[in-house]
Amino acid sequence: MTPSPLTSERLLFTPATPDAEAIPLIFAFPNEYSVGITSLGYQVVWATLAARSDLQVSRLFTDWHESLPLEPKILGFSMSWELDYVNILNLLESLGIPVSSRDRSDRHPIVFGGGPVLTANPEPFAEFFDVFLLGDGEILLDAFIHAYQEVRDCDRQTQLHHLAQVPGIYVPSLYAVTYRSADGAIEKIAPIDPTTPPCIEKQTYRGNTLSASTIVTEKAAWENIYMVEVVRSCPEMCRFCLASYLTLPFRIADVEAALIPAIERGLKVTDRLGLLGASVTQHPEFEALLDYLNQPQHDHVRVSIASVRTNTVTEKLAQTLVKHDTKSITIAVESGSDRLRQIINKKLSNDEILQAATHAKAGGLSAIKLYGMVGVPGEEPDDLEQTVAMMRDLKNQFQVSA
Ligand code: SF4
Repeated sequence: MTPSPLTSERLLFTPATPDAEAIPLIFAFPNEYSVGITSLGYQVVWATLAARSDLQVSRLFTDWHESLPLEPKILGFSMSWELDYVNILNLLESLGIPVSSRDRSDRHPIVFGGGPVLTANPEPFAEFFDVFLLGDGEILLDAFIHAYQEVRDCDRQTQLHHLAQVPGIYVPSLYAVTYRSADGAIEKIAPIDPTTPPCIEKQTYRGNTLSASTIVTEKAAWENIYMVEVVRSCPEMCRFCLASYLTLPFRIADVEAALIPAIERGLKVTDRLGLLGASVTQHPEFEALLDYLNQPQHDHVRVSIASVRTNTVTEKLAQTLVKHDTKSITIAVESGSDRLRQIINKKLSNDEILQAATHAKAGGLSAIKLYGMVGVPGEEPDDLEQTVAMMRDLKNQFQVSA
């Protein structure tokens, strides 16, 4: 196992001292510590749980864990990527917990999962989980723990039936799924008994304070980064984009009341800042955020930014990034073909891509990275050729690395 990373951790919240009746809970990320601790979602859920005195929380990764309870009552997984799913099965086996929900008994913990993969489509993973939390943790976590506390001394079936009453909680064993054919789409998901809700509504948090790091560590994949969520979802609704549809509606963090105070908290412990969100430059006050970062007292701060919408790349953005030690920018162009971009509802033209490169270069950035897709339904060889031509144009005109 990896040496303990605890000495490198700087916490931005105060963990509670568990009380005598605290529920032993393991909160896992199905990948290595450096990957899991870089997930803002994992950090925030862990801090929310660890700040409660009615829980005794231990973290578990594939290469390191805190001291684990002998008889955990709850085991949770935060799942960001589908390819991590095999690690969930390995972790269950390593804990001596049956991988199939139906093989678990009263002596096993309730296994719950949340995060983008499981919220988007829980059904492929239904066999392995007792409970899914669908939607935003800000609403779901406290409701889940509160409901569990009410039935903590009951048998497993009573617990599951009770949890299934909480809005946003899906208990797959209480529903029957029928398919149109053996390898076809789902026909129907219906509750097995009439006391279980027939419909589960994904929970949507609507506050104007979004997430921020609860921990900073040099052992994270992005060393010592402090992350703030600038926006959640994206109003563009490109047809393929889970980051937009899964978390609609588009929400923003209030710059003065939430974002700047959160950034100031983080800059007390690190000088590396990550601005996160599906489309951060679409925050209506993004200019004000840039002005704030461009103040002299922030000259030493290294700023990283998630990929930005192509037609929001300005010279000022590029200059701000260069000033803060970022040399390149990533834009998602998807294709060089207008026809294909129309199919996928990507409202972008090749002129706007060239314009973004012009602004990036004028602002001093030395490289531009393009995200694109091949294999979109309806794509023709000519669409690919147009994409190659667009990239050649960019390289020839701007001498940026493509
Ligand atoms: S602009 Fe980007 S983040 Fe927004 S919907 Fe399109 S692909 Fe998703």
